[in-house]
Amino acid sequence: MGLLYPADRLVTAREAARRAGVDALLVTPGADLRYLTGYNAHASERLTCLVLPAEGDPLLVVPVLERSLVEASPAGALDLALTGWQETEDPYAVVAAHLAAALHRSLARVAVGNRMWAEQALRIRDALPGVELGLAGSVLRELRMVKSADEVEALRRAGQAIDRVHARMTDWLRVGRTEREIGRDIAAAILREGHVSADFTIVGSGPNGASPHHELSDRVVQAGDVVVVDIGGTTAEGYCSDSTRTYVCGGRAPAEVADYYAVLLAAQQASTAAVRPGVTPHEVDAAARDVITAGGYGELFIHRTGHGIGLEGHEEPYIVAGNTEPLRAGMAFSIEPGIYLPGRHGARIEDIVVCAAAGADRLNVVSRDLVVLPG
Ligand code: ZN
Ligand code: ZN
Repeated sequence: MGLLYPADRLVTAREAARRAGVDALLVTPGADLRYLTGYNAHASERLTCLVLPAEGDPLLVVPVLERSLVEASPAGALDLALTGWQETEDPYAVVAAHLAAALHRSLARVAVGNRMWAEQALRIRDALPGVELGLAGSVLRELRMVKSADEVEALRRAGQAIDRVHARMTDWLRVGRTEREIGRDIAAAILREGHVSADFTIVGSGPNGASPHHELSDRVVQAGDVVVVDIGGTTAEGYCSDSTRTYVCGGRAPAEVADYYAVLLAAQQASTAAVRPGVTPHEVDAAARDVITAGGYGELFIHRTGHGIGLEGHEEPYIVAGNTEPLRAGMAFSIEPGIYLPGRHGARIEDIVVCAAAGADRLNVVSRDLVVLPG
């Protein structure tokens, strides 16, 4: 796992901050902190904050009671000083003092992590009077968006893990069971198959399948139901899986489903085939949308085509109309067009792909057909 969190990221991030005219990055628990240090900290009211000045040494400020957790994580192997603050100390003053000591210039612009809690961002503002606060995402996005070869392999392992869950859907998705019962079994399988958390289990049966972000309900699956199953988790390495397949449970689906499913499958294929370096997310989205529109279902495809994935389930780049920042090799994202008939049923097909020189490298390979389960 060492290669997943290489030691040079603090240096790379510091250089990126300097180029962006930012005097320091302040990063609290979450994907940015894990990306930069390998430390998977839990967020709490006690401040944990990586202080990364554009010049001088970085410092990880942690509650003293969590110091041993940092030392046991990949961050413990980095050349990174730690300060454990006592319960009666003000950690924000520790942050401000380190910045004052590290920088040989006056502090003008500081960028805080995009997911920092508001109460912490406001305390930082108070501790650094007169300093302009911005978001660290504008600096870190460039680093996190393009995955290293080791990150791609970690995402592939996550993809294989969620594929194994889809491959066994017939064990759980049965007529007469509720979505909640089915979802509980799927969540357990997500954990068994190599994830440390089951982050979401969408089982959208019948009319619920027409609501893309439906999760679980007490609806009982009926014979002939179309069921959208969108599932994902996080592996111990920190990387996320996310894959959707659509099933028919116990019998024949309504006749029009086969028609729009064929359109959807062609759209997912066209969108995936459009992926290569230099192509824009706008174009990848259009490749799916054009097929669905030509098939007569354009108004029923009510969301973007995809989202980036890595240490977070949703991150940049977003595969959406209007995003004209060209794809680069190493970017990882979902291709997940859907067609939704309100109040009736719907379908979605979702794979994670990596943009590679030769085109899309699909990390989910389990059959994309409309799978008919015996029920
Ligand atoms: Zn999904
Ligand atoms: Zn997704």
